[in-house]
Amino acid sequence: MNSSKRAGAVRESLDRLSPALVSDDLSITDHRGDADYVAALGYASMTYPIASPLIRMYLSHDRAAVREATVMAADMARNAARRAGLVLSPSDLIEVGRQALQYVVNPTCPRCHGTKYELIPGTNCLGPHVCTACAGDGRRRLPAKHRRLIVEVVSRIQRIESTLDVIVANRV
Ligand SMILES: [Zn+2]
Repeated sequence: MNSSKRAGAVRESLDRLSPALVSDDLSITDHRGDADYVAALGYASMTYPIASPLIRMYLSHDRAAVREATVMAADMARNAARRAGLVLSPSDLIEVGRQALQYVVNPTCPRCHGTKYELIPGTNCLGPHVCTACAGDGRRRLPAKHRRLIVEVVSRIQRIESTLDVIVANRV
């Protein structure tokens, strides 16, 4: 049992996924070769079925799995909207789900890559000006449209991810 070492394994897996969500290049073949980890996720999938779409996404890294997780996030958005007395179109629900999932997978600002500052033009050096995309926050800025719903779905997915991490850490 080395759960302290393995805690965060789900997070690591999510980090690997980010290119699949932010670009069209879904050809990630970097499957985890860790049989214990995969077995623990399989166990979690049975005992904590709400996490199943996320688990399939972690394990397969393919477009169909990302789509399935997005649909799940859109469903969370529908519930959050209902609680707020809002009715969103199906395409808006998918967009809220997609934005939330993308933030969970990669919350880093895509312009400054978390450095918070703009590069000096023509160089790889950080300049004195704060990043205009994130206003010096270093994190991906969520769209204004339905931001509150997106934040709610992000929290929901992060809670599932935390529970999943505990389950996995206790199994490997
Ligand atoms: Zn930035």
